[in-house]
Amino acid sequence: MSRVFAIANQKGGVGKTTTAINLAASLAVNDIKVLVIDSDPQGNATSGLGVSKDPDKPSLYHVLLGDTHAKDAIRGTDFEGLQIITADKNLVGSNLELIDLNRREYRLRDRIAEIRDDYQFIVIDCPPALDLLTLNALLAADSVLVPIQCEFFALEGVSELMDTIDRIREAFQHPLEIEGILLTMYDDRTNLTRQVAADLREFFKDEVFRTVIPRSIRLAEAPSFGKPILTYDPRSKGAESYIQLAKEVLRHEQTRKSAQSPR
Ligand code: ATP
Ligand code: MG
Repeated sequence: MSRVFAIANQKGGVGKTTTAINLAASLAVNDIKVLVIDSDPQGNATSGLGVSKDPDKPSLYHVLLGDTHAKDAIRGTDFEGLQIITADKNLVGSNLELIDLNRREYRLRDRIAEIRDDYQFIVIDCPPALDLLTLNALLAADSVLVPIQCEFFALEGVSELMDTIDRIREAFQHPLEIEGILLTMYDDRTNLTRQVAADLREFFKDEVFRTVIPRSIRLAEAPSFGKPILTYDPRSKGAESYIQLAKEVLRHEQTRKSAQSPR
């Protein structure tokens, strides 16, 4: 059984890619096979994992819009157990190109069906938009993980995303779960951060991960070396926080499994 996460928030710069890379690595370090799918034309997850954006190599674009099989677009990373389907600027036009395709919203889901069971987790990094790429990711996913930066408009942005998720559940009859809301770039020295965090926890209750990701220079530096924080600075607070997040995700998985298994 595999589980597919979409890391989504239409707001830019909230820590989606940082979370996709570092959650994926923190899961993979447990001897678990993990695939990252970079579904953002910016290709930040690709370069952040040290993989080249070579437009001639098969990438997500070729899988979504061409005849390339997902398994032929998988590339290795330097991090053991972690593989990636890359994104590059080819993907920029994909929102327009997808429009004319059959089952355009299900394209990603259909195309990764053949590789799903090769992985325990698949982590999809979404672009900062509620566009067709994000819709494809949400329909391919079992659950969505929403990184939020604790700032004044955070609650409004996440409410809009939650409404969208509700509409997707209804319109597509897709039982998308909320894996969790993740507070990122957390700096508890500021009153605003603490107040926004308290409001989010009051409003979304247990849907907010207990783990928070601190604001950390080391986390911001790691992608420029093409490394997850676990290799760049394994003893840092940032590394520790993503390991905690992976533990929480694995606990969710355990709870789901025991709920499913016959007594
Ligand atoms: P986009 O919407 O453009 O895809 P994103 O939501 O994927 O952005 P990231 O790219 O992960 O966000 O992060 C935005 C910026 O903030 C990056 O420069 C990243 O290195 C930095 N950053 C992310 N998380 C942290 C953190 N916990 N502490 C400090 N800097 C961070
Ligand atoms: Mg990003």
